Amino acid sequence: MDFEISAEHRQLRTTLREFFEAEAPIEEVARFDRDEEFNSELYRKAAGLGLCGLAFGEEYGGSAADQISICIAVEEVARASAALAYAWLPTATFCAKGIARFGTEEQKKEILPRIADGTVRMAMGLSEPEAGSDLTHLTTRAERDGDDFVINGQKVFTTGADTADHIFAFVRTDPEATASRGLSVLLVPRDSEGLVVRPLRKLAGQATHTCEVFLNDVRVPKENLVGELGRGSAIIFSLMDAERIYVGAEGTGLGQGALDMALKYAQERVQFGKPIIEHQAVAHMLADMAMNVQTARLLTWQAAWRLDRGLDCTMEASMAKVYGSEAGTRCAAHGMQILGGYSYMVEYGMERYWRETKLYEIAGGTNQIMRNMIAKQLTRRAR
Ligand SMILES: Cc1cc2nc3c(=O)[nH]c(=O)nc-3n(C[C@H](O)[C@H](O)[C@H](O)COP(=O)(O)OP(=O)(O)OC[C@H]3O[C@@H](n4cnc5c(N)ncnc54)[C@H](O)[C@@H]3O)c2cc1C
Repeated sequence: MDFEISAEHRQLRTTLREFFEAEAPIEEVARFDRDEEFNSELYRKAAGLGLCGLAFGEEYGGSAADQISICIAVEEVARASAALAYAWLPTATFCAKGIARFGTEEQKKEILPRIADGTVRMAMGLSEPEAGSDLTHLTTRAERDGDDFVINGQKVFTTGADTADHIFAFVRTDPEATASRGLSVLLVPRDSEGLVVRPLRKLAGQATHTCEVFLNDVRVPKENLVGELGRGSAIIFSLMDAERIYVGAEGTGLGQGALDMALKYAQERVQFGKPIIEHQAVAHMLADMAMNVQTARLLTWQAAWRLDRGLDCTMEASMAKVYGSEAGTRCAAHGMQILGGYSYMVEYGMERYWRETKLYEIAGGTNQIMRNMIAKQLTRRAR
């Protein structure tokens, strides 16, 4: 067993840390958040560093990075800006991976190089008003009509739908089938006639809107089907392990950001004649934060290591997701306490971490659903 990451992994972290500290300092990120401004230029620059092509091969402009590299990249993006992470991950990991693994050659050639260079963005259209944790009860329907599919229904919580080029939509193509059968994935161009996007007001990550998407007789060519007709559940569920590992990495990165900020503050802030880090109550909060971050990172990397080797990692990915997200929340809460009244002030940045972190416990499969899955895997592996 080797706990040391490679020189390339360390270099990746250093490059990304320097990039985001220069391009997305706290005051800039606070401004994007306040103005609800999606920063396309920052996104393109990040793509220029190779961030958008990590999940697919060189033949389509990507780099086919190993999972530890992707986790490091996710950590660094989340440490800098959750809004950018919300914009980047659905495109660069979930949708790009879906197209790379299940798409037609035409879809790969057309879309992947443009994802890699940052000119195309995608949104994940899975959740619906009546289908959240239980996606198999989704009701958005796509019916064949000649060479097209005609889509009717509604998606909700589709992050980045207002600025995406395509929605990677999970729809029912067999109206007779129930539960996980008869579902498919379609690429729906955002500028399709009959498609209306409405941004929702939300707690955090305002620079990337989370939206409702209404589909009224939206027509897409049959060539926009990703994978086999009626095999959509297999596609979506096969992408979930990786997605959960990355949510764990987001929580880890956010926790690391809160720790770095709190540590610096505790070394500089003087009360009762000494830096507050010398008050044991504060030092212990920092120690707890460091343990949370380290444990989250190890769980995330272990799951990533298994995924890279094609080993079953459903339990490890679920653990990484739960622990990483909750570690992020614990670190942000301690960070708030350590910065005292200043934590409440937008210019310090800690309140942003605190608002952002809750999402990781909800999206990508809620932590209750993840605990159900861990328990199920425990039973299965005990057999
Ligand atoms: C900011 C934001 C961005 C999002 N971005 C996207 C996106 O880009 N694309 C997308 O498709 N979705 C997105 N989502 C949706 C997200 O994935 C869902 O919110 C999540 O899957 C939970 O679904 P739900 O909100 O409908 O909650 P529900 O499924 O209604 O759950 C409500 C509560 O009941 C609990 N619960 C439900 N079933 C069980 C059970 N069997 N056992 C134990 N507890 C249970 C849940 O854990 C939760 O606490 C986003 C959500 C948010 C808030």
